[in-house]
Amino acid sequence: MHVELSRREFLGVATTSLLGAASVIGAESAPEPIIDIHQHTNYSGRTNAQLIAHQKALGVTTTVLLPAGRLYGLDADCGRNDTVLELAKQRPREYIFFANEIANIPEAREELEKYLKLGAIGIGEQKFKVACDSPEFQRVAEVARAFNVPILMHFMHNQYNTGIERFHTVLEKFPTVNFIGHAQTWWANVDKNHDQKVMYPSTKVTPGGITDRLLSEYPNMYGDLSAGSGLNFFTRDEEHARAFVERHQDKLMFGSDCNDVFGRGPGCQGANILANIRKCASSKAVERKILFENARRVLKLAV
Ligand SMILES: [Zn+2]
Ligand SMILES: [Zn+2]
Repeated sequence: MHVELSRREFLGVATTSLLGAASVIGAESAPEPIIDIHQHTNYSGRTNAQLIAHQKALGVTTTVLLPAGRLYGLDADCGRNDTVLELAKQRPREYIFFANEIANIPEAREELEKYLKLGAIGIGEQKFKVACDSPEFQRVAEVARAFNVPILMHFMHNQYNTGIERFHTVLEKFPTVNFIGHAQTWWANVDKNHDQKVMYPSTKVTPGGITDRLLSEYPNMYGDLSAGSGLNFFTRDEEHARAFVERHQDKLMFGSDCNDVFGRGPGCQGANILANIRKCASSKAVERKILFENARRVLKLAV
């Protein structure tokens, strides 16, 4: 008798067979999913083919592309909204994207809304010369609130999203918007004794800095471990990093933000950050939260 299986039934059979095969080979042979919440198109001139190879080498299964605004290229010639939409359309199973625009131009709202309607799942990275509690940044937060998406922010003293000591007022004003902190001034402020002029401090950390407090006290504040600043957070004081990762295990997310073409080895910052997360997580469960589960939840991904 010929039996027509529905697609669902067929997938069920296929999955069972695959699971059977996996248990024979050993479950560890299946690659673990990893979400990278911080990459860019055309990063310092890197092509899409080189980016795709980089992410594969790194072991990333889902990549969030963060576009530049209409000017400045995020200071690294990064591609704009149209470029991240294009790559996500070509490889929808692996690439998803945020929308972005310069915060302090009149067209910001319209441009953000256009790409959010085209499928962007967040806003950022916001790396523009405004105060983090300015009316201009708050207009971006209003768009995030209306679309129920997070905002990823580059905090850099005297440069971008300035005034981190006042950011708690924004968290209080927009309790339904999730904010993801990133970059020099975000990570340096894990230290209670941080000197705001220093971008990559190498001193031991006294817990209780601005970043530590924002993550502890505000359910809508998250941290992006990408870039030299995220790596520096691990290397400046490993003992502190272990305790910090434990305490904020539900708030931290892996990101690479590196512009190399390797995706592995000492020349790849993302690979170094991955290694440090694996070293500092107290258990496999904590590691999985930071490499996958937190991003899946905060970005509301169906992966
Ligand atoms: Zn950045
Ligand atoms: Zn890399």
